[in-house]
Amino acid sequence: MIKFDNVSKVYGDKAAVDHISFEVNEGEFFVLIGPSGCGKTTTLKMINRLIPLSSGYIYFKNQPISSYKLDEMRWDIGYVLQQIALFPHMTVRDNIAQVPTMKKWETSRIDEQINRLLDMVGLPHEQFRDRYPSELSGGQQQRIGVVRALAADPPVILMDEPFSALDPLSREKLQDDLLHLQSEINKTIIFVTHDINEAFRLGDRICLMNQGRIEQIGTPRDFVERPNSEFVQSFIGNATIERLAADCLEPIPYNATYPAVKPETPVSELYALLAEHEQLNVIDTEYRGAVTRTSVFKTLSKGGAE
Ligand code: ADP
Ligand code: MG
Repeated sequence: MIKFDNVSKVYGDKAAVDHISFEVNEGEFFVLIGPSGCGKTTTLKMINRLIPLSSGYIYFKNQPISSYKLDEMRWDIGYVLQQIALFPHMTVRDNIAQVPTMKKWETSRIDEQINRLLDMVGLPHEQFRDRYPSELSGGQQQRIGVVRALAADPPVILMDEPFSALDPLSREKLQDDLLHLQSEINKTIIFVTHDINEAFRLGDRICLMNQGRIEQIGTPRDFVERPNSEFVQSFIGNATIERLAADCLEPIPYNATYPAVKPETPVSELYALLAEHEQLNVIDTEYRGAVTRTSVFKTLSKGGAE
């Protein structure tokens, strides 16, 4: 669907993106991750031509992005920013209707689409479509941002740290919504984050960048089982069971034959233990549940063909 072939972006004598190649498949949830300044935003913005390339090629549906008319290509690629900018003087409905209107959709079709999407992200349309942005919480505004990017039914959606300004609870709720949405509408999503837990939770595949280059591309499971450098290992070391717990902790009875781990145990350590034990007890002040090989693999390979 989207293919990078030896792409670089140079500012002065410094490469923000340094000879990267990868391919994102249709319907895939692809996560770009890495420390601040590693080139994630630059990579994303080159896709919809907000930033021109210095060298290499990017293909969208097998054609170089330069061969598309800019407007039409942008309509085919939804974009969600970290701090979404809704127009304050427009209702939710009118904010979302922008691109479908430019694409000359009929009003009835636009409204059907808006109602459907609002309902899908948990904002009942009867209640929310006529509100103004100032009448929404931060999490609700961010949801509108996601709906706006989806409104004209683009096959591809780019998301640049869309949830990073939110509190942990709204963030998890939105991650769930997005996974649910993705399973229903099957878009190709390229999602930027610097949070390894978010990446593990959402990504079919993850691309870890460092100083403009790609360190490793693979499924979450590949990263934990086969990190291919110390950088990768230390980066995923930040993921902990605690943060994965909502998905992989099983409410099964305590079983003393298995070893105990703390919720803050790094996932990399957890994996080493799971290589030897089928199941582990998660205990902080009390027993919280078990993680099993199956539950962890299932969580880490969401959507993967296992
Ligand atoms: P990330 O999104 O991973 O934090 P960016 O893609 O925004 O990183 O930036 C990558 C590198 O390119 C950084 O070192 C940044 O300072 C540099 N950079 C980004 N935009 C510009 C620019 N317009 N001029 C010069 N350097 C830039
Ligand atoms: Mg960025």
